[in-house]
Amino acid sequence: MSDVNDVTLILRSTRVATPDGVRPASVAVAGATVAAVLPYACGIPAGARLEDVGDDAVLPGLVDTHVHVNDPGRARWEGFWTATRAAAAGGVTTLLDMPLNSLPPTTTPAHLETKRAAARGRIHVDVGFWGGAVPDNVKELRPLHDAGVFGFKCFLSPSGVEEFPELDQERLGRSLAEITGFGGLLIVHAEDPHALESAPLRGGPAYADFLASRPRGAENAAVAHLVAQAERLDARVHVLHLSSSDALPLIAGARRAGVRITAESCPHFLTLTAEEVPDGATEFKCCPPIREAANQDALWQGLADGTIDCVVSDHSPCTTDLKTPDFATAWGGISSLQLGLPAIWTEARRRGRPLEDVVRWMSTAPAALAGLTRKGAIEAGRDADFAVLAPEETFTVDPVALHHRNQITAYAGRTLYGVVRSAWLRGAPILRDGAFAEPAGRLLERND
Ligand SMILES: [Zn+2]
Repeated sequence: MSDVNDVTLILRSTRVATPDGVRPASVAVAGATVAAVLPYACGIPAGARLEDVGDDAVLPGLVDTHVHVNDPGRARWEGFWTATRAAAAGGVTTLLDMPLNSLPPTTTPAHLETKRAAARGRIHVDVGFWGGAVPDNVKELRPLHDAGVFGFKCFLSPSGVEEFPELDQERLGRSLAEITGFGGLLIVHAEDPHALESAPLRGGPAYADFLASRPRGAENAAVAHLVAQAERLDARVHVLHLSSSDALPLIAGARRAGVRITAESCPHFLTLTAEEVPDGATEFKCCPPIREAANQDALWQGLADGTIDCVVSDHSPCTTDLKTPDFATAWGGISSLQLGLPAIWTEARRRGRPLEDVVRWMSTAPAALAGLTRKGAIEAGRDADFAVLAPEETFTVDPVALHHRNQITAYAGRTLYGVVRSAWLRGAPILRDGAFAEPAGRLLERND
């Protein structure tokens, strides 16, 4: 605990999201760290600066554990500079990069070093890396773990890029046993390849045809297999981007039985519906897909009862030319890094959920998933990372105003609640009044 004499900044608001709820408070910051959460009307220590944000809410910086930065190799799709600016503008102060869509993929320690070299000096927020579990890299998993990745991602069905093949059940078991041997975490794109193969595949611009080609059953079967493997090996697993609400009872039941399984969903599954996707609008394409409104209601129930732990973006951009109007061939991925917070807050608000829930889903729980003990809450000893949000203010999404590289988004034209006024990283503003500071992000390793 820092001495009061070390306090450099008092960040004051009538609405600070503390672990005990949103309340008036003054956050005392000593250098890069939260020293204490003090009463609202506390005195200002000598040498400290007061930053009073009035009624704007002070949230812990968001932690987005599901981002495809694609850099190096597919840096025309995205990149560390642009992705981390979009993150900061969306109140995200920590992101974890997915191991695929960059070249090389993050499947060996050497590749991890290549990724870190691409990121160094170009990141506006803190960045960590997931490793990849692919068929031929079982012996690389422990070295990657030792090199500081936060866990390992695998696919159970084709990933969409040839350099990152999926694991069949036998290989899944082998990789999961290896990862469990050193206490690691496996995060899984859970769609069953056999269920996908037997689904009707009709190309073209109709969203209903695309939806039929990625049925809920594919997710449900994959989650069931994953639960069985995790139970057999007493492994720790995480379901990525859950879309099928039918899988919720499976996950909840497994957890009750002691299986170490967690799950995330994404802003697009929780705020957009299949019914409203226009024909040919492949900016809405992702896998698994955005489903029906009734499915979305059930996902919100899963959030409310804690079956879904986290809400993270799965920001997965590409160049405009790859978003052809044919849902079968267009690149799958939705760009939302900058918009996740307002999108979720808008819907949470409509459904009567408080800001505290949004903070838990988008900051505290993802930090816990990744073991980021210095992130995810405003309390003494944690990094002084903040998002300052005007919760009642609205804006209309204009793709041109977004900071990610290719200004395509499924949210274009939507009016959302929640304007991010500023973002702070380790006690210093990284974005305020629309202006970015010099990149001050750090490369994070597991256990940082
Ligand atoms: Zn993804």
